[in-house]
Amino acid sequence: MRLVLVGPPGAGKGTQADRLRDSLGVPHISTGDLFRAHISQQTELGREVQEYLDSGELVPDAVTNEMVRERLSQPDTANGFLLDGFPRNVAQANVLGEILANAGQKLDAVLEFQIDENVVVERLLARGRTDDKEDVIRHRQQLYRTETSPLLDYYSDVVVSIDAVGDVDEVSARALRALRGEK
Ligand code: AMP
Repeated sequence: MRLVLVGPPGAGKGTQADRLRDSLGVPHISTGDLFRAHISQQTELGREVQEYLDSGELVPDAVTNEMVRERLSQPDTANGFLLDGFPRNVAQANVLGEILANAGQKLDAVLEFQIDENVVVERLLARGRTDDKEDVIRHRQQLYRTETSPLLDYYSDVVVSIDAVGDVDEVSARALRALRGEK
């Protein structure tokens, strides 16, 4: 299954992606995790992107798209993947469409996590990642609204939405039901 997860920062995409990976048997590809790994390994890419992550800005598309292109060329993605945090804007979605079309593939679904922004601010402050400061969180939320949420229209034929409020098991069960086309 080829799946994209969309939802505001703090909606629980990463946690659910780990679970869905186990249920669906496809790799979980998080662009945020890939960038953070580069930063902690102090690679050249890591140095290049650090400021963007610290300030909650989007890393430039050219850099992000190349990293994703490379990741999706790895053999473990042949039977599917779960993309978490990519695409984050329509330009990235066009690039993803092109990568998939070149491989004769297409997305099966875009899973939308619906959650109130104010609920997630508290959750993110508690998580305490270096980019989880209130002003940076608000900025990431704003970028979600302006840059990322238009993807819900872009992908309207394949969007499946779930209520992301609830405990982890409950939300996982909802996600699997929704992906099976059940209520
Ligand atoms: P995340 O772990 O998805 O919350 O991403 C953390 C940070 O990584 C974001 O605030 C951006 O700085 C950067 N990032 C992750 N994915 C992307 C993407 N698709 N495009 C641009 N920047 C990204």
